[in-house]
Amino acid sequence: MSAILRKEGFSFTGTPHLADYLIVNTCAFIQPAVEEAIEAILDLASSKKEGARLIVAGCLPQRYKDEIFKELPEVDAVIGTGEYGSVAQVLRRLSAGESLRTHRPGLPGDVIYLDIDRQPSARQGTYAYLKIAEGCSNACAYCTIPSIRGPQRSRQPQAILREASHLADLGVRELILVAQDTTRYGRDLAGQPTLASLLRQLTEKTPGIELVRCLYFYADALTDELMEEMASNPKIAPYMDLPIQHASDAVLRRMRRHETAAEIEGKIHRIRQLIPELIIRSTVMTGFPGETEEDFRILLDFVQRIRFDRLGCFVFCAEEGTPAARMPDQVPFATASIRAAKIMEVQKQIALEQNRKRIGQVTPVLFEGVDERGILFQGRSYGEAPDVDPLIFVAATRPDHAIGSRPAVRIVDAGPYDLTGVSLDEHCE
Ligand code: SF4
Repeated sequence: MSAILRKEGFSFTGTPHLADYLIVNTCAFIQPAVEEAIEAILDLASSKKEGARLIVAGCLPQRYKDEIFKELPEVDAVIGTGEYGSVAQVLRRLSAGESLRTHRPGLPGDVIYLDIDRQPSARQGTYAYLKIAEGCSNACAYCTIPSIRGPQRSRQPQAILREASHLADLGVRELILVAQDTTRYGRDLAGQPTLASLLRQLTEKTPGIELVRCLYFYADALTDELMEEMASNPKIAPYMDLPIQHASDAVLRRMRRHETAAEIEGKIHRIRQLIPELIIRSTVMTGFPGETEEDFRILLDFVQRIRFDRLGCFVFCAEEGTPAARMPDQVPFATASIRAAKIMEVQKQIALEQNRKRIGQVTPVLFEGVDERGILFQGRSYGEAPDVDPLIFVAATRPDHAIGSRPAVRIVDAGPYDLTGVSLDEHCE
């Protein structure tokens, strides 16, 4: 949206009370996100200057299209998840005095708006997220995303390659491919291009990009072709984000996931054989309706056996409008929370042991900042995705090591979360 507005001649301010238009882009797939979005809207509404207009975009108006104007009279217009491309038009219509409070977002449609040359946020600098598909055609019983963002619509490979080159020209060195389910990329396009072929082309045709990382894999769609491409292509981060959700087959079935725990374990085993240095992140959920003590024990055993390098555990949230919210045998929140805490307690020790295995490893680390005391660089290697994973703190040994450089670093210490290293003489540019 900011790229479109810039192109249309609008300018930006970070000071809300100076703005003519205030735009809040929202997330609303779970209740805490809804609450955060509403708080942000009310916050901005309180700094609205005389005559300014407040526009709410994204998932909140898409999910609550009938309620939003009723509940939030401060809002002047909404932009649904399929309407980002119309942002400039919305602002112009408001400026012409038109009331848009009767507009309801339609069904999410094409994803052409993603093809505009965008400016990644300054905070990112050396890396950028690159969306390869929008929406999801899986139907996990607890998830609101398919109803908010529509079925999967993949972008054309050429459009993704073009955006990757544009980002590389802006100085981006690491691309992070995202979609609701990256492993199913391309299945809805003619010719069904695969994620593996997209990765091959991206790494061959954008020389400025040093590392490509993929998030949000689904084990059942993790093909041999993809695993082999990851294993043989040095520009693909040996990193796998595989949110499995559970490991009891009974729970997986009720969740409407497509696989069994044995299939998930088989895929993990296979990819670890192909890529021994692979870092695996996963997410699981406790308290799904009907989850028994036995189901929980199966999950805990799985976590102890698989030894994910990183793991997040969430408590099930009965989201309005999802099949799971209507299922019998809802698990009390307190029980689910105790189970989640137990998983995280076990995982803390596993993460420490997995991190400590990396002591002595030499790996390129992209320096992205300095620690709060201004002594150590902080950065990420192939094993750390921004925002969710630990950082590596590095003592620099050469004066030319600077933010944006990517020297080889020897890992010398590790805790359950962050790692510490020393930079070496060799550079990895
Ligand atoms: S794959 Fe992910 S986004 Fe799609 S329905 Fe399942 S949880 Fe939701």
